[in-house]
Amino acid sequence: MIDGHHMKISATAMHVMVVNGREIPVDIRVNRRARRYILKVDPFRPAILLTCPSQRQKKAALAFAGERRDWIAQQLSEAPAPQPFVPGARIPVRGIAHEIVSDPERRRSIEVSTCPSRIIVGGDRTHLDRRLKDWLRREARKEFADHADVFCTQLGVDRRRISVRDTKTRWGSCSSGGTISFSWRLIFTPQFVYKYVIAHEVAHLRHMNHSAAFWQTVDSLVEDREEAESWLKVNGTELYAYGVRHSGQRGAVAA
Ligand SMILES: [Zn+2]
Repeated sequence: MIDGHHMKISATAMHVMVVNGREIPVDIRVNRRARRYILKVDPFRPAILLTCPSQRQKKAALAFAGERRDWIAQQLSEAPAPQPFVPGARIPVRGIAHEIVSDPERRRSIEVSTCPSRIIVGGDRTHLDRRLKDWLRREARKEFADHADVFCTQLGVDRRRISVRDTKTRWGSCSSGGTISFSWRLIFTPQFVYKYVIAHEVAHLRHMNHSAAFWQTVDSLVEDREEAESWLKVNGTELYAYGVRHSGQRGAVAA
């Protein structure tokens, strides 16, 4: 099966930057609303993401990125090690470490056991990674929607559509139309962390800003907002390392 996502990547990755002897693709995006060049590094793909305001500025944007090669190298080297989904690996689910176990005898299903905490993935081992990822996304969606429902009832606001995505920059967001989105990767965090993110977005259904009234609403839903925020600050990057395959990552980038 051809994955549309990967097709898109190869179509846009026309530029390459050599960082510490390693060829890193550069994805240039034109965004007319961008006021300047925006440079980001995705250490896991790895790739350099470059945004510029117009087509004409692409060349200058590339030069801009070229001048920041040291910073890019640092971003690549500081990334946490990939934690691929393979048998024997341990991944947190709702903050609790679970060992991944493969059981090809089982037909496609996934089962979670406690004591010891394990996730048993059925079916062919070659599909374990995708199957587990799909399952985690479904778990995330269910779990986050359940909590959002409770918070919506508490605030007396209408619950809208909930979506779960693989976002790179934000853990949660709330559109002006009321659609709430979360990163599925929050399913790795302890419950108090993702509950805070959910409370935050649900509170936006009442206040589309970060006013004092907004924070008061958040605090009426959860008690440990500050702990949750600092947890994400400290551990957030690591959440992106789960499910990343080993091939071509890290190692070669010795800063
Ligand atoms: Zn907010």
